[in-house]
Amino acid sequence: MEATKFIWMNGDMVPWDEARIHVLSHALHYGTGVFEGIRAYQTTMGVGIFRLTDHMERLRFSARAYGIALEHSVDQLAKAARELIAANEMEDGYLRPVAHLGLGSVGLNPTGAATNVFIAAWRWGAYLGEEGVRNGIKARVSSWRRIERSMMVPAAKGTGSYLNSVLAKSEALQSGADEALLLNAQGHVAEGSGENVFIVRGGALFTPPPGDGILNGFTRQTVMTLLRDQGFGVHEVSQTRGDLYGADEVFLTGTAAEVTPVREIDSRPVGEGSPGPITRLAQELFAKAVRGELDAYRGWVEPV
Ligand code: PMP
Repeated sequence: MEATKFIWMNGDMVPWDEARIHVLSHALHYGTGVFEGIRAYQTTMGVGIFRLTDHMERLRFSARAYGIALEHSVDQLAKAARELIAANEMEDGYLRPVAHLGLGSVGLNPTGAATNVFIAAWRWGAYLGEEGVRNGIKARVSSWRRIERSMMVPAAKGTGSYLNSVLAKSEALQSGADEALLLNAQGHVAEGSGENVFIVRGGALFTPPPGDGILNGFTRQTVMTLLRDQGFGVHEVSQTRGDLYGADEVFLTGTAAEVTPVREIDSRPVGEGSPGPITRLAQELFAKAVRGELDAYRGWVEPV
């Protein structure tokens, strides 16, 4: 990772190397943090941050879900993100806001631990590799199941809950795949370790519903809108492992991964074993939308 100049911390622009937290921060011990991943792009309106307000609203929702006091409003957080991109003189890149419990409590009772908020930003290319974006990645159904709604809040981005994703991702990489696909406790397809999943069958799209314990990604919602507006049927219906094997096309969506085709699942080729036409269309429309090139969806781009 290449350093940028500043990290925004609790209201100040702090030089990258000086952005530190205490070893007794509550979040380091118990995972009591929440975070976001956001991308900035060069757009037809200058540098723009994609769905910035939505992401900051989700950060506040995640904090509320896990009982982490977050004083900053959505507007304050969005302003900080824009100022950070400007201060770092970035034309595109990835933003990582984190709100976590800091110093003040070393027991599980979080009372007394103050909330730290920071936003870092750096240049980050294709999360699953350029080659993956072009030709598709290899995925493996994980032996780990996705965190359950009765145990944590899958719809929130809690830092602690990402141990589940790290286990699945590491297992996939160790077995020679690029990404994990997690089933939920009922055996329904949930999502990738950091992406939502779409299955194309007979010219229509299928994606697991929020009730299957997914994070309802903004890239997912964006792609659903773009393809529905093109006249495609996009159905939020539970999917099985067998549905993955029988798919004509499969692709993953996420802020980091954008739209990444899947060419192989559990050593079985997906469709022809190369990205199909609907996946290509989703990639193309998404790439245009984030750059403000589609008039109807300019509202998603929030200029810096
Ligand atoms: N699922 C998980 C588990 C994720 O971590 C992410 C990345 N935030 C996504 C889905 C995709 O969400 P989004 O499109 O909002 O980045």
